[in-house]
Amino acid sequence: MRQKECSFIQELLPLYAENLVSEETAQLIKEHLAGCTSCAQDWENFIRPLPDPVSLEKFTPEKRIENKLFKRLKKTVAAVVLLVIMSGPG
Ligand SMILES: [Zn+2]
Repeated sequence: MRQKECSFIQELLPLYAENLVSEETAQLIKEHLAGCTSCAQDWENFIRPLPDPVSLEKFTPEKRIENKLFKRLKKTVAAVVLLVIMSGPG
């Protein structure tokens, strides 16, 4: 079963990262990662350093501003639509 193989591979990822698996196992993992996107994603997350908390903090307000702008834009669009309707033929 594929699910079983995935959990097996994911259990081995830390060992694979430290080169603690046999060449045969490493080959098996490599082959699995090439064909399994979910395990490949896990592997990428595993080898990638954790995101800097400072940059995370920076990211959140930016998102909030974006949201505000989007809301304002929606309001503007609504106003324009109303204007078009009101100044339309009739
Ligand atoms: Zn997998």
